[in-house]
This record gives sequence, C-alpha cells and structure tokens, in this order.
Amino acid sequence: MKNNRHSDIQFKSPQEIKAYQEARLAEELVYLDLHSKFYHQMFQKEKIDIAKIKTIEDLRHLPVTTKTDLQLHNEEFICVNREEIIDYVTTSGTLGDPVTVALTESDLDRLAYNEYLSFTTTGCTNRDIMQLMVTLDRRFMAGLAYYMGARELGAGVVRVGNGIPELQWDTIHRIQPTFCMAIPFFLTKLVEYAETHNIDYKNCSIKKAICIGESLRNPDFTLNTMGRRIHEKWPELLLLSTYASTEMQSSFTECPACQGGHLQPELIIVEFLDDNNQPVAEGEAGEVTITTLGVRGMPLLRFKTGDLCYHHTTPCSCGRNTIRLSSVLGRKGQMIKYKGTTLYPPALYDILDNIPGVKNYVIEVYTNELGTDEIVIRVGTDTRTEAFSKQIKDLFRAKVRVAPTIQFESVEYISKIQMPQMCRKAIKFIDLR
Ligand SMILES: [Zn+2]
Repeated sequence: MKNNRHSDIQFKSPQEIKAYQEARLAEELVYLDLHSKFYHQMFQKEKIDIAKIKTIEDLRHLPVTTKTDLQLHNEEFICVNREEIIDYVTTSGTLGDPVTVALTESDLDRLAYNEYLSFTTTGCTNRDIMQLMVTLDRRFMAGLAYYMGARELGAGVVRVGNGIPELQWDTIHRIQPTFCMAIPFFLTKLVEYAETHNIDYKNCSIKKAICIGESLRNPDFTLNTMGRRIHEKWPELLLLSTYASTEMQSSFTECPACQGGHLQPELIIVEFLDDNNQPVAEGEAGEVTITTLGVRGMPLLRFKTGDLCYHHTTPCSCGRNTIRLSSVLGRKGQMIKYKGTTLYPPALYDILDNIPGVKNYVIEVYTNELGTDEIVIRVGTDTRTEAFSKQIKDLFRAKVRVAPTIQFESVEYISKIQMPQMCRKAIKFIDLR
C-alpha cells in the first residue's frame, strides 16, 4: 500500500481521476475473482467476464451487494485466512444480527492512510494535536481509524474517549489540543458544561471540530439546526463533517470550503443509484453505492450503503476535483410516506432539536389499518400542556407541511427507551412497519 500511494490524484482532472480508478478497478475485479467466494460465485452464476468490465459505467452490468447479502453470507466475503486477520469490528445488519468485518495488516495501513487523507483535507498538519472524543473500543472502527490516521500525519493525539465533559475540559487545559473528533451533540454538552463552570471555551486551544455520526449541514450546505446551535454558541470553532461507514473502510470529509465530503479516489469508487439500481443525475438523491479499492480482508463490489445523498461533480475551491457528497438525507429503509409527504428521520430530528422544551424524544413509525405510515413522536419534557403540543405541531406544519401525533412522556422514560442494552448509540427512530 505504502508504495502505491497517489495522494495528488484528487487534484488531477476528473478524466485523469476516472482513468486512474478504472485501472484500479480492473485489478480489484481480478482479486475478487481469485479470493472472494461470494464474488467468484456471482461472476460464475451471472456469466460475467470480468475482463469486459473496463469503465466505471461498466459496473452497471454487475449485480449490487446488499447489507442482507453481507449478513447471510458473511464468511464468504472474507478473502483471507484467519491468521492474516488482525482486527475485527462489527456493523449493524438489516436482519438484526451484526455483520463482522475483518481487517488485515494492509487494511489497517489503508485505514490509517484514509484518515491521513481526511485530516489533510480538513487542513490539519503534523503541528496539530487531536483530542479524540469518541471511543476506540466497543467493536467500532472509527476511533481506531482516527488514531492511526493522526499517527500517519504525525499529529499529536490525546485519547479521552466519549463523554465526561469534565475530563475533556481538563485535557484541553493540560494538553492544548488544536482540534477534536466528536459527535455534534456532544459539542453542545461541552459548551453547556463550560458555561455552567465558567470556562472560557471560546478562547480555548481547540479551533476545529471534525464531526461524525450526525449531520451539521442541510443538503444545500447551510448549517442545520444542530450545526447552528453549536456555531451560534462557539463561532470561533470551524465545524467540518466526515462521513463513513464500516463496510466501505473509507470516508468522505469536508475541506474548509464546506461544500460536501470529498471522495478519496485511491480508496473507493462511488455510484449513486435509484430504487432500480440505475444511476441518478446530479441534483437527485441517490443511494451511496461503493466499490472498495485495495481492501484485502473484506472487499466489496457495488455495496449499497442504504444512505441517501446528493452528489456534486463541479471542482471545489480547495483545488480538489473529486466527487463531493451532501450530508446524508436519510437511510433508504427509513423513508416515511406521511399524508402525501416523503420524510426522512433527520428532517424530523432537525425540527425537534430546535425546540427548547423538548429534552429528548423517540420517533415511532408504524403501519395503520389503511396500510399507510403513521408517525408518533414521544417527547420527553417537563411541559406537558396542550399549548406545547400545539406549538410542536405548528412547527412541524411550518417545516414539513404535516404534523405527526405528539405524545408526552417523562424524560427518564425516553432515556430508557433510547438506550437498551448492547446498544452503542442512542436510538431516536423506531421502525415498527
Ligand atoms: Zn474542497
């Protein structure tokens, strides 16, 4: 991997980037045919001559891979012997059980390189110090990837992990980190803690936050409610997003122009597909579908991530000519058809996050007797009045034209539903359809 790097490729013309990716794709297909039981069988069954797949457009002759495929045939995707596997992580599947992703030594190098590229995209250098506010363990890939990427960059790292604002602020004072990796919601907690403890957070050493897990921006790149909430409190902090999924072992990271996450052409090929697996035009939402380049343990071909995004191909002011992704509009299976309106949970989160009296919430979607979607929002609040319910409904009508059913609960009760055992993230959306 190390001899094989072309970190300048992202600055070349779109034609050069495409030609480079197509050369890499040919090598990748040979590897899959030789080492992946799943893909070898697919090529045989579908009578696919991989030598004929020469361009990115030619990928359309190949079937897509779904999360269900990964779940049903997990072992068949692994291309190496057990002794070559160094790290195991898991990701949630569609059928309940998690999917195991196995990484080799070279996959770990590739992952480090991916985050190195991400950090350089955000403008970080070896003079920076990163405070890691996400977890390194719990079978997660991300925290480990950031750690290795910062090492690759030669930046300093202080691993605090998630939570514990007191320890975060103590570390900021002691180590003077210049940027942090965090979940946006946690940044609001950090600010809250600083305000109640008279910490001069605006003048602290951290000048940039690279955010994961939740969007900061609307599809048109303006800050969403969460992004604005942080920015209004802490305008000195540059907010950038990075988007990744465990299966793709690569990320799309914003440069300081904040015009979407940049593709890393050395690591991944991306397509944007509709429900019939046909490419969508620029300006239409499509499902992010990826083909990994250079992954040895568990490479994937046309894997449908379930995430819906817009994509942009115009050159970025940072000089990169790579495809850029908007924030994730929603997950494919989570689309809600409600009273004639198409909604995705993030749009609902954005409204609820903006209502001061709403302490926490869970959105439930189920199918009613007519066979259409119903939405019940269970709101944790201390203000359980008719007037507040009406205020919430009016806000929904103003933003998304429809008002779901609102049910008030205690804040403790919602907290309990949000955090069942074995769960790594707070649940905000429950799909009962
Ligand atoms: Zn850029």
